Amino acid sequence: MKEETPARRRYQQSVAFRQNQQLGLEKAWAVFKAAPRCGATKRSTGEPCRGYALKNGRCRHHGGRTPKGQEWHKIQWSPSKDANKLNRKSLDIARRERRRNKKQLTRTPEELAAYEAWKAAHRATSTTARARARQDRDAHESILRLCAEEFEND
Ligand SMILES: [Zn+2]
Repeated sequence: MKEETPARRRYQQSVAFRQNQQLGLEKAWAVFKAAPRCGATKRSTGEPCRGYALKNGRCRHHGGRTPKGQEWHKIQWSPSKDANKLNRKSLDIARRERRRNKKQLTRTPEELAAYEAWKAAHRATSTTARARARQDRDAHESILRLCAEEFEND
């Protein structure tokens, strides 16, 4: 903090100081208003979230901190140095793993096969790979539709 001098105190009580502060607030408000917003649907109201969007277009409550591509399913460690927080997280991870293992043991062979099939179908791929697959699927469907129309016209 700057040292408080009589000149500084006089400036802080002046009109120019208040105008500068107002300008700064207006600039910050304009930046805040122009920032991208989260488009996720709120469960409580069903309306868009409108929270401050992070890099991936979602707010921190709607997956904004989830990494993209191959990293999306990996555990995110807080940059915090707080030992309690890190300990809580590692206990959570251990608990989740125990539950998952317990669930695996109680599954019937059919359930296990269904689970393995689901896992194979939901592999972690990059967003570009998924987008390309979606495009290919859409193109394939439109070709089939065009062929069907062609046969109807004959
Ligand atoms: Zn959100």
